[in-house]
Amino acid sequence: MTDKKLIGVDLGGTTTKFAIMTMDGEIQQRWSIDTDILDEGSHITPDIIESINHHLDLYNMTPADFIGIGMGTPGSVNSKEGTVIGAYNLNWKTTQYLRRDIEAGTHMKLAIDNDANVAALGERWKGAGENQPDVAFVTLGTGVGGGIVADGHLLHGVAGSAGELGHVTVEPHGYECTCGKQGCLETYASATGVVRVARDMAEEYAGNSKLKTMLDDGEEISSKLVFDMAKESDALAVKVVDRVSYYLGLALANVGNMLNPAYIVIGGGVSAAGEFLRKQVEAYFEEFTFPNVKNTTKIRLANLGNVAGVIGAASLALQFDQQ
Ligand SMILES: [Zn+2]
Repeated sequence: MTDKKLIGVDLGGTTTKFAIMTMDGEIQQRWSIDTDILDEGSHITPDIIESINHHLDLYNMTPADFIGIGMGTPGSVNSKEGTVIGAYNLNWKTTQYLRRDIEAGTHMKLAIDNDANVAALGERWKGAGENQPDVAFVTLGTGVGGGIVADGHLLHGVAGSAGELGHVTVEPHGYECTCGKQGCLETYASATGVVRVARDMAEEYAGNSKLKTMLDDGEEISSKLVFDMAKESDALAVKVVDRVSYYLGLALANVGNMLNPAYIVIGGGVSAAGEFLRKQVEAYFEEFTFPNVKNTTKIRLANLGNVAGVIGAASLALQFDQQ
């Protein structure tokens, strides 16, 4: 083991986060820049290169001080080729040659993976996963993503779609998903999914509820509002959270039944609902798992917040240490 450092890059639709880390996963420097998605995202890669080079100058460091760079990005990632395609929130419509361009611009090696996978690696390494060899991660945000570490290895599958928990079918003839399928977990348990469930349940609901009154009046609501009102025992909000927890519990139970990880970690913006949500998901998880999984696989909340991605991204560069 050397005392060389890692660089982590977490590329997102609005900001790009950077960190310089030790090989033990301690953050030494951290910064971020706005992601400029104009002109078909053509500024993104040059901006990342410039920001890394600028900060190396600032800290009096050179590429020789680093093992390499690890990076998480939206879109369909080809980790072997170091390319990404279809990152629509970055306006990237054609294949981006991230490894080729960033290695040429920084004179360091680059490893990439998708954003949900690097968040999974981060939580597994330094967060709620306690560096266990078997950890599954689900992120509940604008969409629902996931990542699976099994026997110490991040799973990719034959075409990079392993761990895409957002598209697990939880309702065979359910809501239509952006993927073209019906009844995906994402359509119920993402931030927009929770709002959609609330709207539909409000139509059938006849009882007394402030949430129903708001929806009937055409007011804008958010998933956070639904959870906050459920915590205050609003009758409709309680039913909505129960429905969402049922779908999450069902999906995660089947992850458990299949992989029996030590932990299934729930992260992302919706998970800010905290223990209130976790407990209800756990109740359904226990209903849908068989005894040995129920007794050994635990549902946990993520604890790294928004640095999970940059920490997990940096860990991708550890592979260069053996080379
Ligand atoms: Zn889907």
